[in-house]
Amino acid sequence: MSELSLAYIFHQQQLLVDHNFQLPRVEKLASDLSFHSDDQVIARDLLDNEPIPDGLELIPIRQLLPLWSTKQFEQASRAIQLLEWRRNHKFCSHCGHATEAHASEYAMICPACGYHQYPRVQPCVITVITRGEDEILLAKNARNTRSNMYGLIAGFVEVGETLEEAVRRETLEEVGIQVKNIQYLASQPWPFPSNLMIAFKAEYASGELCLQEEEISDAQFFKFDQLPEIPFKGSIAHAMIMHATEGTTVADDTREWL
Ligand SMILES: [Zn+2]
Repeated sequence: MSELSLAYIFHQQQLLVDHNFQLPRVEKLASDLSFHSDDQVIARDLLDNEPIPDGLELIPIRQLLPLWSTKQFEQASRAIQLLEWRRNHKFCSHCGHATEAHASEYAMICPACGYHQYPRVQPCVITVITRGEDEILLAKNARNTRSNMYGLIAGFVEVGETLEEAVRRETLEEVGIQVKNIQYLASQPWPFPSNLMIAFKAEYASGELCLQEEEISDAQFFKFDQLPEIPFKGSIAHAMIMHATEGTTVADDTREWL
């Protein structure tokens, strides 16, 4: 019998773990995705009709973020994104022929026309905006009707736009204000579905808060010592809010989120 592999087994955005939130070990199958330099770590989709093995349970991967180290979460995040990419690129987007997986790279190749399809990430800017010495802008997402959590202004970078332009445009669109002194802080891969969150800080420059109602149900400048409910620890938004209000670093050299 071959050595067992550590397996990231997903069903949509849920991952199979044991009751201590650890990964199971399984026998490797030919269809498994090797995604780590150590090929004893594999990723696999749990099919709709497959039962959940005894002793394991499906947990939404967001819930693992506060329980796992950053490294573990990033590996899970990479696994889920590569599986999704493979699932969505079974055919050539150029000529429609069935594709084949490249033997050594993450590429789906078309045997008919030779077109290579690679995994892509979506750049998304997220900005912590302060006013004066002791105020931070926090906004409530209109789609979040289940909690009273306030987060940061975020949005996708558009084609042809710089990251700084995306920060200015998203802030103006969502809350109607102008910002200045935009500075890069850190980044975090975010597998919902395949984003790279690029974090900036900026200062309020001018304008009155005016909300884009489809996106934002409330936004206010909060005093640092009177914050509402904020995103959970482990998310880049949490680290950014702590950075702005308490001066902690967003990410240190060992890539641990503080
Ligand atoms: Zn083709």
